[in-house]
Amino acid sequence: MNILCCLEHVELALDIIVDEFETPPVIHNVDNSLETCEYCQNKAIYVVSNADSDTRCG
Ligand SMILES: [Zn+2]
Repeated sequence: MNILCCLEHVELALDIIVDEFETPPVIHNVDNSLETCEYCQNKAIYVVSNADSDTRCG
């Protein structure tokens, strides 16, 4: 799952990932600014994903 979000909504996106997947979220910067935030009309600058298969703690 990936959530595109702006600076204002990055915390919201993080909360949603943690809530739904109970895994640590991963934040990447969005390089091209064509994408829009999922929660407003601002440009997305981050994409928040659930850490799926990459790393595992413990
Ligand atoms: Zn936003």
